[in-house]
Formats: sequence, structure tokens, C-alpha cells
Amino acid sequence: MCNSLTCKGHTHFHPKGKLPSTYTVEAQKHQRQILPLADKRDFEEAHHGFIAVPDYKVIKNDKGGIAWDLGRYDFLLQGQDFDSIHPSLQRQAILNLDFGLFEVVPGIYQVRGFDLAVISFIKGKTGWIIIDPLTVKETSRAALKFVNEKLGYRPVVAVIISHSHADHFGGIRGVVSDEDLRAGKVQIIAPKGFMREAISENLYAGNAMMRRKVYTYGDALPASPFGHVDMAIGKNVAVGDVGILPPTRVIMEPLEEVEIDGVHMVFQNTPGTEAPAEMNTWFSDFNALWLAENVVAGLHNVLTLRGAQVRDTLAWAKYINITLYKWGDQAKVLFQSHNWPRWGTERIQEVLRGERDMYANLNNQVLNLANNGVTINEVHNVYEPPQSLQNQWFARGYHGTYEHNSRAVIQRYLGFWDCNPATLLPLSPQDAAPLYVEMMGGADKIMPKGRELYDQGKYREAQEILNKLVYAEPQNQAAKDLLADVWEQLGYQAEGAGLRNIYLVGAKELRDGIIPVAAAKTGSPDFVRGTSTEMFLDYLAIMVDTKKAEGLQFKINLVTPDNGEKFVIEMSNATLTSLAGYAAPDADLTITIDRSELEDVMIGAAKLVDKVKAGKAKLEGNIQVLEQLKATLVAFDPFFEILPGTKPAAAPAGKPGKEEVFEDDAPVVKEP
Ligand SMILES: [Zn+2]
Repeated sequence: MCNSLTCKGHTHFHPKGKLPSTYTVEAQKHQRQILPLADKRDFEEAHHGFIAVPDYKVIKNDKGGIAWDLGRYDFLLQGQDFDSIHPSLQRQAILNLDFGLFEVVPGIYQVRGFDLAVISFIKGKTGWIIIDPLTVKETSRAALKFVNEKLGYRPVVAVIISHSHADHFGGIRGVVSDEDLRAGKVQIIAPKGFMREAISENLYAGNAMMRRKVYTYGDALPASPFGHVDMAIGKNVAVGDVGILPPTRVIMEPLEEVEIDGVHMVFQNTPGTEAPAEMNTWFSDFNALWLAENVVAGLHNVLTLRGAQVRDTLAWAKYINITLYKWGDQAKVLFQSHNWPRWGTERIQEVLRGERDMYANLNNQVLNLANNGVTINEVHNVYEPPQSLQNQWFARGYHGTYEHNSRAVIQRYLGFWDCNPATLLPLSPQDAAPLYVEMMGGADKIMPKGRELYDQGKYREAQEILNKLVYAEPQNQAAKDLLADVWEQLGYQAEGAGLRNIYLVGAKELRDGIIPVAAAKTGSPDFVRGTSTEMFLDYLAIMVDTKKAEGLQFKINLVTPDNGEKFVIEMSNATLTSLAGYAAPDADLTITIDRSELEDVMIGAAKLVDKVKAGKAKLEGNIQVLEQLKATLVAFDPFFEILPGTKPAAAPAGKPGKEEVFEDDAPVVKEP
């Protein structure tokens, strides 16, 4: 009943795909023996308070495409154990399919499974207080409609954004209209630093992050037992435009009490935890504790593999501890922005205590090892979380893994270097690999050895030598195919959803080359409006190619009268810098334009020259410097090559040409 591509009724989506090897099958069997499968509380909790499912599983976006499709994961619900999925990850993937409308406690409701995150609804005296309106407007709008249908229509009176990640605010326009905002009918509440962090995290390294997200979120994979199964904190991210609206009230204090529509809340800012701007909330009327994304069902990322700054495990553990001691003995329910809630004081304390210890142990034990000489290049093979944590489902490595998080802790404290002189300034992989391959005796020696290691189930060993060969010979498709086979088995065996996706997308790109995919985008007008002029100028400076700027020297004053800002922009030493609050007396050019008009230029809806012609902007001085600046800017390729020899000969459709900030239609703020 099994052939090379099909087993138990499931066919691999790729003609070059491989089924799980006997080693992978054995590894999964072993996991089923050691995992705490008898503890089924998560299944009860994930279904507790169930009210209804919608009569659809697909949500279309406004452009006619598919924003969300939960039906594509139905294969997980047939009661089958897949050997191509780590049993623990498959369990999480099934739990995340318990979707629909749920009552958390009377007066608090959640819609789960409409996007990566969960959207929550608190019943106020007159309307809904919404927490975290998902990634795109289509999914949040559908969730609000569903809630109103099932629980009775209520207007939205407030939106609380728990933190600065797009899956928690991007869909805000699906639940809030400009009209209601202008009329003051709805408040938007966010933690200290929200706008700055929400924009900047997606801006400066945005193009690289977006490309890396294709790997970590598995955007390039079809849903399949051999492909995408889950993202640990939800199924996946909806596809569409990410919006953002500035808060009407920012929570500035460590603890701040607010009452909205008769609901009393105590906000607890937790900066530097799961996000740089994040807050927990205590709902005293309901004895309900909201943990934002500081607690989820599983270990979170200390370092997000799509790319982000390393998070602070110690601060994270301390904030959970404060929450535990402050409200842990009163809370009747613990709910958060991903996965499902926990009920009862004993269970809540168990989860909070365990999650605190999980981050604290990562911090303490990894530094304990580092202080004994274990390096960033070894720690993932050395560090092991305590057995008592491994036995708790909420501490398993689904989104973050203990392996990559342990490296992240060292990265935070000691940096990337292991203190071996040979690794401080190594050759680039493409320059080192040919030497290795030559010394190993060439492809004719490496391929049989690689196959032998693959046949023995020694996948990480096989990866070591095949990766060198692929770098040395990017056009060697047989080598790329064998490395893809190796990564596929590593992906099947990975408990972490991101890890699985990374291996499987790597395999797919080695087999097919790069194929552009649709994803959530943050280049929307909302995002540009949220970008401060200072951040915009910072990003402009990142777009300058130093080699093209060699020898240039100029100063530009930028004045935006409507918001009273001014900047001096200087090109010097082939480097663009800007300084807020200053003007150069000897500037080559002064640009005067209202910030509201500048936004059209930033979005790409207008060109600066047209603004000048229309009398909306004034240029005084040498306008040639604008041309000079323009000539130094480069476009970022959203599908740049990660693995050697995977770039198609022709550029993929939709790839923008040269990005010309002051002239072209291309928006400056690109999707992340
Ligand atoms: Zn999230």
C-alpha cells in the first residue's frame, strides 16, 4: 500500500519528495513512548466553553484571493498518526484546529482559528471591547460578524492592542471605521512604545525578514502531512494587507488602571519580553488574567528565526513572576492571544510557574554552561531543559525551540563569536566550500559518502558535507536533491513548527528553485502614515549603496511645517545621516513640504516634483542633489537567493525595478 510517493492514502506533494525513512519512523515511535500523552488537559481546555463554528472554513480577501483557509488542514483530523510529523507537533496542530467561538467566562469570548492569533471580545455595558484584532481586516471582520451573529450585535467601543506584532493589530480596520474613530466612538489602547516598535521592527531589516519568514512560517509549503501542518501558536498567518492605527491612549506606567464601558482593567507593561512593547491585563470584574503573548501553549522564541533582536529571557521570567504573585491567587481564568485559556487557580499557577521557570532556566543554565566555556556553536547540543519541564506540554518547544533559544541567550550576552580565532573572520561559505570539496576529493567522493550517511539516518552528518558541495557547485542538482532529502527527514523529525518549516522550505527551494509566494504585507498606506519622518529618513539611508555614493557631498534641510519638524540630511563619506530638530545654515537644498503631503510621496502615490508643481512643496537651492541622492538608492529583491543555485534565470514576476523614492511609484516603506 506504500510506494515511493504515497503511503496510507497520502501522496507527497512533490515528485522528488521522500516518505519518512525507517530512522524517522523509529524516532517518531520513540517519541510516542516518552511523551506525556496521558495528560489530555489541553484538549479539554481547547474545547472548554465552545459555542459555535461558522459554516465556512475559507475567508476571501477583498481582492478575491484567499485570506484564510482552515479546511486545508482537515487531513489532521482523520485520527491518523503521521510518521512524517513529530507526534508532539501533530498533537499541537490538532489542538490548534479546535476553532470557532468560545466563552472564556460569561462576558469574555474568543474567536479562535481565524488567523494566527486569537481575537477576544469583552462585553462592556454598551459594546464590545476587542483585544488583538488579528493580522488582516478580512479575518477580524469575519470574526466580529460571527460574534455579533451568535451573541447579539454590539458596537465596538474599544480596541486593546496587547503588543507590537502585526498578528495582533494588522486587522484593526476590520473592526474600526475611520468614521467611528473621528467621532470618538471607539478608543484604541496600546502599550508604551507601540507605534515605534510596530513600525521599526518591520522596517529597517524588513525585506530580509520577509524573505526569511517564507522559511520559518513555511509560506512556500502546501498544507500536507509532508508539508505545512502548523505554526505552533496557531495554524498560520492570514494573507492580505496589514493595517495600523495610532492608539488614542498609550499605557505609560508599569501598572495603570483604566475603566472602559464599565469594565475595570489593570494594565501591566512588560517591555522587553515577547515583544519590545507588550502588556498583560487584569480584568478584575471577571477575575480574568490576560497574558498577551507572554504565555502561550509552548516555549516561545527568544530569537525569532525570521530575524529580530534577541529577547530578554530573564526579564520575561521576572514579568511572569510578578503576574503570578500579583494576581495568581485570584485568577479564575488565564487567557492569552494564542492557543487556548486555562481555568482554575491551581492550573493557572502551574502554567505561570512552569512558563516562568522555562525562561528562567534557559537564561540561568545556558549562562552556567557559557561560564564553563560552552560556546554558541555547541550549546544547542549541550543544553537540556529540566525533565520536569519536558513533561509539561505547555513547556514543549513548538514555536521557540530549546536548541535555537539556547544559542540566542549566548548571542544576547556574548555575541556571535565563540572566541576561536579561526571563526572570527572566516571565509564566506561560497569561498570556503570549493577548498573543502577539493580536499575531500570532489563530488565523486562526497556524493557516495553523503548517500551512505543518509542511508544510515545520520542526517546532520550528511548535511555537513553536502552543504559544502552545494556551495562549491551551485548547479549540481544531484547534490542539491540529496541535501533536500536530508533536510526533509530532519523536518519530519522536528518538534518545532518553525524548524520543520525551515528544513522543508529549504528542501523545496533546492528542488524547485525560488518560487515567489503571497503573504501578509505591511507596506500599506496605514503603515507609511505610522512611520515617523525620522524612521523614513533612517530607512532611506539604508537604501543608499555606499559604492554609488562615493565622492558625493551634500546637505539637505527638510522642513515639515504642519507638524513643526525639521531635519538636516547629510551625505558625507558615502553615508547618509539625518538629524531631527536641526537645520544646516549652508544646506545645498531646502525642501519644505507638509508631513501630510510627504506621506503621499512616501506611499508612492505622488512624486515630489508633482508636489512642487502643485504648489504643495517648495525646493530652494540646488535641486541636482536630489538626482544625486536618487542615483545612490537600490531596490531590495524580495526573493533574494538564500541557498546556492536556487535563483531562477529570469527575475520572478512582480519584482520591482529600481526603487526611486522621489520619482517613482514604488512605495518607500516596503513590506517586511
Ligand atoms: Zn502573536
